[in-house]
Parts: sequence; C-alpha cells; structure tokens
Amino acid sequence: MTDLTAETPQQTTPLATAKAQLAGAVEILGYTEGLHRMLATPRREMNVAVPLRRDDGQIELFTGYRVQHNISRGPAKGGLRYSAGVDVDEVRALAMWMTWKCAVVDVPYGGAKGGVTIDPRLYSQAELERVTRRYTSEIMPIIGPERDIMAPDIGTNEQTMAWVMDTYSVNQGYTIPAVTTGKPLAVGGSLGRATATSRGVVHAAAAALGDAGVQLREVSAAVQGFGKVGSHASRFLHDAGTRVVAVSDEQGGVMRSEGLDIAALERHVLTTGTVVGFDGGEAIDNKELLALDVDLLIPAAVEGVLDAEAAGRVKARWVVEAANGPTTHEGDRVLAERGVVVVPDILANAGGVVVSYFEWVQANQAYWWTEREIEDRLEHRMVTAHRAVAAVATAEGISLRDAALTIGVRRVAEAHQIRGLYP
Ligand code: NAD
Repeated sequence: MTDLTAETPQQTTPLATAKAQLAGAVEILGYTEGLHRMLATPRREMNVAVPLRRDDGQIELFTGYRVQHNISRGPAKGGLRYSAGVDVDEVRALAMWMTWKCAVVDVPYGGAKGGVTIDPRLYSQAELERVTRRYTSEIMPIIGPERDIMAPDIGTNEQTMAWVMDTYSVNQGYTIPAVTTGKPLAVGGSLGRATATSRGVVHAAAAALGDAGVQLREVSAAVQGFGKVGSHASRFLHDAGTRVVAVSDEQGGVMRSEGLDIAALERHVLTTGTVVGFDGGEAIDNKELLALDVDLLIPAAVEGVLDAEAAGRVKARWVVEAANGPTTHEGDRVLAERGVVVVPDILANAGGVVVSYFEWVQANQAYWWTEREIEDRLEHRMVTAHRAVAAVATAEGISLRDAALTIGVRRVAEAHQIRGLYP
C-alpha cells in the first residue's frame, strides 16, 4: 500500500517532497484518505532490463522504468531521463508532478515519466541508439499516441525522441509521429518546442514579477543549469533586459556582476561542453550561485538543490523553478518564512508540456502551425494559468505552490469522481 507521507519531514528525496506536497494539497481540499491514496498511487509501472552490446562487443545491463502516475484526464505524458543514478522512486515523483502540471495548464493528459540508468556522456551515439530502441521495444505495450507520449528530459534530446518514434512506428507498421513530442522538425516536430520550456519559464517569471509591479528589465538573475532549459532561459532573460549575472552546470559556474555575455557563453559551451573556463566572468561554484545577491533565482538543473540549508542562504526575492522539484519540502518552508516568492515547477516549467500538447495535436491532424501561432498560444496558456494560481493564492492566503497544487489535484480528483470507480 502506498505510504502517503514521508517518514520524516526532513526527508529530501524527490518522492518524499512530492508526497508531502500532495498531502498538503489534500489537507487544504479536505479529501478523504481513500481519495488521497488513489491520488498518491501510480496507476501503472513497468521495470525492464535494457541490455546493451557495446561497440567493443562487451555486454552491459541497465534498468529502465516507465511510471504512469495518472491517466484520468487523458493519455499519460512525460519525459524520458537518462541518468546513472535514476531510480524508480525518482521516476514516480517526476510522474506525479507531471499529473498536476498537465492539470494546472489544462492540457488533456495524465502524468508519466521514464528513466534508464545510463550516463549518456559515456556512450557513443550508436550505443545510445541501441539502448533507446531496446528500452522502447520493452515498454511498447504501454506506450502510444493515445496511451503514453514521451518527451526529452535530462540526458535525452530530440534525436532520442526520433529513435523512440521510429522504433514504435516500425513495429506498428506505419509512421506514428504523435507517440513522442520534442522530435526534430523533419519528422513531425513542432516549431518552438525546443525552446518552449524556457520561454514558459520567462513568461512565468514576468507574470510573478508583474504582480509586484516589477519588470524583467529591472532585475538581475542567476540560473543554475545550462542545459536545454537553462541555456535558452538565460538567453531569453538577457533578451528581455534582465542582467543575468551567473550561470552554472554540473562542473561549476561563472559570474559577472555587470551581466554575462550570454551569446559568447553559448559559443564557449558549444566548443568546451561546459560554462567552466569562460573568460567573460569569474569562477563560482553551485553553492555560491544559489546564495547570490540577485533578484531572481532560476534553478534549472536537478531536484533537491534548495534544501533547508541552501534555502536559508537564498537572497533572491523570487525563485522560479525551471527544474522539476528543485526545492525540498523543508526548503520550501524556509523560503516562505523568509518571504521569498516561489513560482512552483508545475506552473513555471509547464511551457514544455504545453507545446508538446501542441505538437501532438499537430501530428494527429497532420497540419502544422506557424511559430507565431505556437508562441502566442503558449504565452496565453502560461499567463492564464498564472492568473488562476495567483488568484487562488490570494483568495486562500496560501503559497503559489499550494495554490497550483490544489488546482491541479482538484482537476484530477474531479475526473476520478466523475468517471466513477470500475467495477
Ligand atoms: P539537460 O540535461 O539538458 O541539462 C541539465 C543541466 O543541469 C546541465 O547543464 C547539467 O550540467 C546541469 N546539472 C546537472 N546536475 C547538476 C548539479 N548537481 N548542479 C548543477 N548543475 C547540474 O536537462 P534539461 O532538459 O535542461 O532539464 C533541466 C531540468 O528541467 C530538469 O529538472 C528537468 O526535469 C526540467 N524540465 C525539463 C523540460 C524540458 O523540456 N527539457 C521540461 C520541464 C522541466
């Protein structure tokens, strides 16, 4: 039976954080224990062995997971993560957050996530292709454009999504682009998908600042993580006039108090693979970045970086969560006590799933929209969701996170209750 809460409030695993968040929303909503248990429990999970024949002929074995947390509002939807340390509990937490996220921005999906225990940096393209195809064929029975739709996450990219789509399509006997999103344009991807999460983050930041009468061009920012989400977010912030003073990746960070030259930094990363060593700023580490005296802090890397201790050192007035689960439950409490406004992940980074939804709609209709249409509709969705969340937060006197969670959880619970229990 699903344990509904973390054993201690200090637990900092993503699943402990996700469970504590759900428990908080259930308390606000006054739901029964039975409904709480249904909302907390993944609907379907699959664990698979993923063997790889390496280029030198050696065999290695990875574990693959796909967790469909909820499918009451539509097909399961969520990313695929390649990371050596990924485990089923991390995937469960990420799948649960996808459920609430899809409901908050009102796209007709449930939530899912996948993972394979591989560090993609240590393998050739041919090896990654073989791993992706084997994982896809192992989980084939539970995925599909009407069942479960995959997208990129940490360690995967649009090429991975093309391999998943091809493996699925070859096995079905015809081309089915809607089984993945975040694909290359040449095989049914959508304009604007590669940058959608980051654009959404910037819309969310602008909306939160706007509530306090502040504009992006008036503030400074630090961004942790310079991958698919963090790099574009840094550039969009820079383009909006924000002084981006620091960025980092897994290896370290750089800072320049007058603002970094983001285009030059991107060129440096393209040639070296890291922000470290960029000569347009001084070196800092990730711990220092989180504690910088900036207005806006954007964690865009991994879970759990803002625990109680790190949260106690945050000087930013706003934290906009581009990553999933960057703040632990205790970290959240500390930030709230210190008056920091946190724009929660399930709202702030929802731009990715919004444009994934647009990509799926386009693929199903075989009719593609213009970039302008996509960007206008993305902005509209993000601003509408922000307004709804901010209105509930104000009316109920609760945080933006609790407001977003109660909206998302309530929509999913409504779908459960209207559909009824079978048999
Ligand atoms: P990515 O693999 O492209 O980039 C991750 C970045 O984080 C890299 O720069 C990496 O070096 C850095 N990093 C990793 N571990 C770190 C650590 N311990 N400290 C500091 N930096 C570290 O991944 P991404 O797609 O940009 O995803 C980043 C976050 O955004 C994840 O939490 C992901 O779940 C979330 N997210 C991604 C999308 C999307 O569309 N890609 C959508 C919603 C949410």
